[in-house]
Amino acid sequence: MKRIAIDMDEVIADTLNTHVEWYNRDYQDELTLAELHGRSLLDARPNAREAIESYYAREDFFRQIKVMPHSQQVLQELSQHYAIYITTAAMEVPASFRAKYEWLLEHFDFLDEMNFVFCGDKSIIRADYMVDDNVKQLQAFQGKGVLFTAPRNVHETRYVRVDNWLEARDWFMAELERADERMENAREEGQSANQTPCSTASISVEESAT
Ligand SMILES: [Mg+2]
Repeated sequence: MKRIAIDMDEVIADTLNTHVEWYNRDYQDELTLAELHGRSLLDARPNAREAIESYYAREDFFRQIKVMPHSQQVLQELSQHYAIYITTAAMEVPASFRAKYEWLLEHFDFLDEMNFVFCGDKSIIRADYMVDDNVKQLQAFQGKGVLFTAPRNVHETRYVRVDNWLEARDWFMAELERADERMENAREEGQSANQTPCSTASISVEESAT
């Protein structure tokens, strides 16, 4: 089975949406996701840095983040065809460790918890595919990167892009067929490469015989 490394925040966890909701509720603001098109929360509210960053220290915030629509159903389906690993740069926010672990156990209980990878620098990850909303992580990855659309990455054009989990499912299911085709082509090329020296040898035998 090919391995897919899947990010948490903004990929299976609807972190930004939850962050905006909690920030609006606690600080009586009316920030919308549309205002975040092509920029971060801090870019949109530079004067509210302390308020915005305060949530990163709160376990209850990470524990209550919403699940990205269709991610559970699609990962369950894809896990029949791929080995699924959840890879999160949790070192960026140490306060989130326990809450993220419990969140995964609650919402993705069909995955093997031995496939949960809490790390810092994801360049250490070796898998066939990586689904991430962070371009930096895809740049350092040696397999095939799949960019999951988030407001901050809408202008990026270098990667295969999926806007949601239904699109991701279609891409990965089609990729199974593409991978089979690539393997078949490689096998045929290997066979024809093996045949070339034989035919050359037979020609030279014939030539020397004449
Ligand atoms: Mg992310």
